Amino acid sequence: MEALRREIQGSMETARSGTRPVDLGLPIGRLSRMDAMQQQHMAQAGVSALERRLNQIASALAAVASGTYGFCRRCEEPIGYKRLKAGPETPSCLRCQAESEKRR
Ligand SMILES: [Zn+2]
Repeated sequence: MEALRREIQGSMETARSGTRPVDLGLPIGRLSRMDAMQQQHMAQAGVSALERRLNQIASALAAVASGTYGFCRRCEEPIGYKRLKAGPETPSCLRCQAESEKRR
């Protein structure tokens, strides 16, 4: 769990370094400026996905500390071992996850 968190924090650093504001003062062509902005946009999307994941991991670690880890945060049923193995930071069981995705 700790190792996973460190790994994600590492990739956060990498993703963040790609989100520096585009320097519009640089004498680059219009096309490459568009490219730079596109890249920045993609990097930012990556950062927010990682941030969501980090938040999930933080609450999973809190759940470990309080002894509620491995139980769905919505229906309080145990989350399957296979599911936890695939995504140790997952906050809800497969059924609740499927429901929340349907609503999106
Ligand atoms: Zn559930």
